[in-house]
Amino acid sequence: MKIKCPKCNKNAEMPLDYSMVKCGSCDLDMSYGEYVKFIAHNQPKYSDILGDYASGVSTEGQTAGSLDEWD
Ligand SMILES: [Zn+2]
Repeated sequence: MKIKCPKCNKNAEMPLDYSMVKCGSCDLDMSYGEYVKFIAHNQPKYSDILGDYASGVSTEGQTAGSLDEWD
């Protein structure tokens, strides 16, 4: 899918699995995690939303792990 490049504001490409972000107009080539951090760093108003997203993912992983241990 097309997304906005955080460096040059032109069209960058991101696969549907969100694995990476690549821009043909500049040398941008980073993982989605790095892209999210890059956006959050440059646009502080988004950092709260992205922080909620990150903590939700990590909590889910911890819950699954502890359930396995109790079995
Ligand atoms: Zn770019």
